[in-house]
Amino acid sequence: MRADVIVVGAGLGGLCCARDLALAGTDVVVVEARARSGGRVEGMRFDDGRIVQLGGEIVGTVHHAYLELAAELGLEIVPSYGGEAGENGYDMLDGAHIGEDWLTAADRACMDRVEAELQRIAATVDPADPWSHPDAEHLDRLSVGELIRSLDPTWLAYRLFEAEAGAAGGLGIERASVLAEARAAAAVGGVLSSDYEQWENLKVAGGASVLVDALEQDVAGRIRYNAPVVSIDVATPCTVTLATGEVLIAEVIVCALPVGPLRNVAITGVSSARLGSLHRQRQIMASKAVTVLDEPVWTRVGWNGLAVSEHQTGGYWVQGESTLSSLLGPSLRTYIDMAPPGVPTRDLLAGIERLCGPVEARAVLWRHWGSDPYTLGYVTAWEPGDLLAVGPLHGSHEPPFYVTGSDHWAAGYMEGAVRTGRATARTILGQPPVSLFVEP
Ligand SMILES: Cc1cc2nc3c(=O)[nH]c(=O)nc-3n(C[C@H](O)[C@H](O)[C@H](O)COP(=O)(O)OP(=O)(O)OC[C@H]3O[C@@H](n4cnc5c(N)ncnc54)[C@H](O)[C@@H]3O)c2cc1C
Repeated sequence: MRADVIVVGAGLGGLCCARDLALAGTDVVVVEARARSGGRVEGMRFDDGRIVQLGGEIVGTVHHAYLELAAELGLEIVPSYGGEAGENGYDMLDGAHIGEDWLTAADRACMDRVEAELQRIAATVDPADPWSHPDAEHLDRLSVGELIRSLDPTWLAYRLFEAEAGAAGGLGIERASVLAEARAAAAVGGVLSSDYEQWENLKVAGGASVLVDALEQDVAGRIRYNAPVVSIDVATPCTVTLATGEVLIAEVIVCALPVGPLRNVAITGVSSARLGSLHRQRQIMASKAVTVLDEPVWTRVGWNGLAVSEHQTGGYWVQGESTLSSLLGPSLRTYIDMAPPGVPTRDLLAGIERLCGPVEARAVLWRHWGSDPYTLGYVTAWEPGDLLAVGPLHGSHEPPFYVTGSDHWAAGYMEGAVRTGRATARTILGQPPVSLFVEP
């Protein structure tokens, strides 16, 4: 088989790139390991007909590229969990709370102080080139935890920052680079990712997988499913070898793989510096759990369904009418792997009960993304020192070898997949480049 362009991976990034190339008349083929498109966006139809999202779900006002694409595809955008009435929940080790009455003025002042400092730093970072920041070395080696501790935090505020990082499936504040956090904020015009009202206030009606389905239709007939790629040789022409031994030929390769599986593909014909940079990127391991209920139990107690947790549950947010989502990040991985069957589910439900009383769940659906061979993670982790180690080749191309997908953007998210996917298509088509970042 021969094509002008082969896109490896039919996640959101690969699909966006292939769609724009196809609409411009390019002979493009997408090669996908799984039997479905969407990668880390995955919808599942539950027994009662509701579609449940087991992967990427929410976007926000600052995700311009995603919202623009949704509009182009004629999809409706609706409020996400942010539209729920009620107050936030806190499932702390020493007691569960609804609302924030238990926080002191000193706790709140501390949180404001930390956010202001992160915002101040973000305003000094160029998301396209954080490496040239005059203080890059120091800021990349500095953890968010160290920054917080330098600002004289209250004990409770410190614990809340850690619990919030856990609820987002993150590595925790002691293992997050300040420079990477600041770069993510700078990428969307200076809004910190902890500002859920701008990062997580929206979703596609029907769920994120609806957008994937719409994209897939525009690339119909061009996707080869069940076709894991084992090697790529970048030459004139390029070749892509499948696990079956079949060799595909193209002028241009778009590598739209997550950085974990990418390491398992033998790539030749690109510089060792580029491979070194790609292989140095790492992913956070996380599992997602979706609790399917009969009723919106959170409304009983004036809880809005959003909670952070210090227990082994990650936290909760409302996915749908009677559905709660949870992300269980790397600090809970051993517990999930080693606990007897049923125990993580029991603990997840116990957390909901601490917040709003007895619940009967129809099911708790688990998706372990860290051990899925075609994801091997969740989102890119930027531990202290990682941004400098990955270096300025991050997200750049070495024609005819192009990279695309959320791991190649400053802030991950589905926004990153859409932005890089579409920008890569423009570059290949020789169209004027668009910025990958939002102006402040
Ligand atoms: C649990 C979870 C929750 C998330 N929540 C959100 C959220 O609420 N909002 C948000 O914006 N983002 C969220 N994200 C992140 C978002 O889903 C991803 O960043 C984005 O979808 C990644 O798209 P991508 O195209 O870059 O990569 P992927 O979606 O990972 O696509 C890569 C594709 O490559 C394929 N592939 C892998 N190896 C091979 C191979 N050897 N040969 C051929 N094909 C291969 C894969 O099967 C996959 O289809 C979440 C992610 C997860 C896992």
